[in-house]
Amino acid sequence: MRVAVISDIHSNLAALEAVLADAGAVDETWCLGDVVGYGPQPNECIDLLHTREPDLVCVAGNHDWAALGLLDTADFNPDAERAALWTREQVTAASRTYLESLPQAVPQGDFTLVHGSPRDPIREYLISADVARSNFALLGTRYCFVGHSHHPFVFVEAGDARAMPELQAPLAGGAAALGERRLFINPGSVGQPRDGNPKASFLILDTDKHTIEHRRVEYAVKVTQRLMQEARLPERLSRRLGYGV
Ligand code: ZN
Repeated sequence: MRVAVISDIHSNLAALEAVLADAGAVDETWCLGDVVGYGPQPNECIDLLHTREPDLVCVAGNHDWAALGLLDTADFNPDAERAALWTREQVTAASRTYLESLPQAVPQGDFTLVHGSPRDPIREYLISADVARSNFALLGTRYCFVGHSHHPFVFVEAGDARAMPELQAPLAGGAAALGERRLFINPGSVGQPRDGNPKASFLILDTDKHTIEHRRVEYAVKVTQRLMQEARLPERLSRRLGYGV
């Protein structure tokens, strides 16, 4: 089975369209949350995801919960909060219903899908070896896909579970074997990359060949930026897309 693993779309339709086109024919699409927030087209992104049903699995992210009023935006930085409150006003009843339906974690065979971490699927950032190690102890499957940090990476469990997991950057170009060790895998962000590369980031998982392939895709950043300006979303959020930070 060929799966497109995407995360942190953040209402960026141009980026989502480019990623789905680049992925080509897939059997399933797995989405790790934060479909909305920051960007200008929340409803359009949800509608496009819908077209992947019934071969779509999606979990909830903190920005999806913020759009529903389930999460206090006081913890967000001022720009993120402004965008979250804007999003809350924009989402249609159908979009709300969809966001409300998203589970926090989904096991899919050998894989678990969460936005943050197994310990705290909505809020925790799995970005340090220490946090990865304590989450390996809670992980019920061999592999786990996470999003939330917008940084593509892999954490490999150490042979001795007490030792620190190893952080690996995603391999550029070509598929990499999943291997026997347990892994946390972050595909990076579709709609707001933060690793210094403005191209949309995602993964192709091949469950037959047991490989993941990390991909970066150029998209019409200027189209998204123009829509953000028209929507009067914070200038800084629009500018950062051009730099991938
Ligand atoms: Zn996010």
